[in-house]
Amino acid sequence: NYRCRSAFKLLEIDEKYNIIQPGDCVIDCGAAPGSWTQVAVEKCNANGRMEKKPKGAVFSMDLLHFHSVPGATIFGGMDFTKEESKQQLIKALNGRKVNCVLSDMAPNATGVRILDQESIVNLCYDVLRFALVMSAPQANLVVKVWDNGDVPRMEKDIQRFYEKVKRVKPRSSRDDSAEQFFVARGFKGLENIMNE
Ligand code: SAM
Repeated sequence: NYRCRSAFKLLEIDEKYNIIQPGDCVIDCGAAPGSWTQVAVEKCNANGRMEKKPKGAVFSMDLLHFHSVPGATIFGGMDFTKEESKQQLIKALNGRKVNCVLSDMAPNATGVRILDQESIVNLCYDVLRFALVMSAPQANLVVKVWDNGDVPRMEKDIQRFYEKVKRVKPRSSRDDSAEQFFVARGFKGLENIMNE
């Protein structure tokens, strides 16, 4: 009952790294058609299915419009890289800190390798900056990258802010040869980093 096979990538990552707990507040960037959102809703209990567990919340954004997912708040037709889109998310969060930021965003490929690589790296940094400002201490982050020269630099940057960072290639993503995910756990908290 997942909207697309991408769901299994997130399920695999969560099974191994336990990135979403009941009660968590989750942001899903590049969420259409919504299968990661479906997984996130189940794992954080945004739909209240696990009656005895705390209820979480999921906020999902995509350039495309997509069908609602019960338990999630959907922002369709919005470009995450735009400041006004982030403001919408911040407004919806209403002061609540985020426990997990997900990004399966991929830019529209031009076919020119260097341009495509640059745009996915820019997207990742955009997600990282947002995560740093909006996350609660100990929060987690999952972002998609394409294996390439810039990835080690990004790994170093993410390591400054999160206790554990892994580069992961889920079994279910083997058909897309260049796709990888950074799984970063244990956000150190901006205060702690600035006092380093
Ligand atoms: N995780 C999704 C799921 O499981 O259903 C699939 C995501 S799909 C691989 C990547 C998505 O990223 C596309 O729907 C695309 O529209 C979106 N995207 C790319 N750039 C974006 C941007 N700047 N802002 C919002 N969404 C973006």
